[in-house]
Amino acid sequence: MSTKISIVNINDYESIPDAIVAAIRMIEEDFHFDILNCKNILLKPNLLRATKDACTQPIFVEGVIKYLKEIGVAMENVSIGDSPGQIKISAEQIAKKISLLEVCEKASIKFINFERDTPVHHVIEGALRLKDYYVSNPVNECDLLINLPKLKTHGEATITGAIKNYWGIIPGGLKAKYHLLGRNPEQFGEALADNFSWVVKNKPNRLIVYDLIRVMQGTMGPVSGTMKKWDLILVGTDELALDVIALEIGKFKGLKHVPHLKNTFERRLGEGDLDKIEIVGLSLEEARILALKFKVPGRTMTRFASFITRSIVYKVTKKIPILKKEICVKCGQCFEVCPINAIDFKIGEYPKYLRKVCISCLCCMEMCPQQAIEIKLRGFGGLFHSY
Ligand code: SF4
Ligand code: SF4
Repeated sequence: MSTKISIVNINDYESIPDAIVAAIRMIEEDFHFDILNCKNILLKPNLLRATKDACTQPIFVEGVIKYLKEIGVAMENVSIGDSPGQIKISAEQIAKKISLLEVCEKASIKFINFERDTPVHHVIEGALRLKDYYVSNPVNECDLLINLPKLKTHGEATITGAIKNYWGIIPGGLKAKYHLLGRNPEQFGEALADNFSWVVKNKPNRLIVYDLIRVMQGTMGPVSGTMKKWDLILVGTDELALDVIALEIGKFKGLKHVPHLKNTFERRLGEGDLDKIEIVGLSLEEARILALKFKVPGRTMTRFASFITRSIVYKVTKKIPILKKEICVKCGQCFEVCPINAIDFKIGEYPKYLRKVCISCLCCMEMCPQQAIEIKLRGFGGLFHSY
């Protein structure tokens, strides 16, 4: 056996933290890292939108914190964050709306908005789509990454789960631009696998606690699909194995139908062979009885979504920084934080934004002490501009 996964079912909502602790305990002997030696532990939930169904549940985070406390991890070494890449609402505001901030405050762990830090440039060797790559600094710096995905259908990627949740480590609006690199679901799958290959290479210490308590399915995923109760939690250290098993529970062949899983398997970035995945806790058969069949969007739908995304959505929704001169104090902090020299700045003058160079990471907006930078969607004019 090359990787181990625990499957646990929950009896009621209040028992979720205890169930998470039990599920982690079942595989902790196999960790190749010592959590107590990790000084910068980062939790990465899915904070896509300000609705509970679209996000990893706060009580789920409580369970992971409970485990960390029980084994003696100091809470000052733990933080949690994400980059939803939205204009009107920040990661903290989403966390507040779904009551995740309360959980963080109660546990004294720091909430990090990935967009409030300069992204780090990397070159991904062997990448098929994302060779020239930017990653959020808190992810770049952590020494243990705890991934908290939630299983949902996804219009373009077919599903979002353990591997796709890492798309949020790409800063701000840059995610939308990277969507453009995949001209169809297969190519987008390659981009997702490239992003995951960076994680595998640079973040060897990873733990995944997978939220299958209520899964989202149907064509409106990952934002507002139909919720189905599975009442399950999966824990492991191999994202591909976890995604494959999550879908097996839903009677769906992930390696055959989900491009990024297929690509990840072919590049040997994880274990996809059922015979090499050891399951503890509930058996796969017992879990299958508890879960309804997982319904994903059809291939025509994912192709259509991919076409719309690349030909219209990104062009129209590209995020552009706009300077509010009336409040700018010409301090140059935006110029200093920009990772790609997309801001021209001379002392005593207003900064100028180079739209063709800008990667829409949103850092300048987050960092400006005056809130003098507004981010706007490019709008339908974007269909006719090259920037
Ligand atoms: S950081 Fe804000 S106030 Fe300072 S120069 Fe940039 S836009 Fe102006
Ligand atoms: S100008 Fe563009 S690339 Fe530079 S910090 Fe602002 S959003 Fe990011």
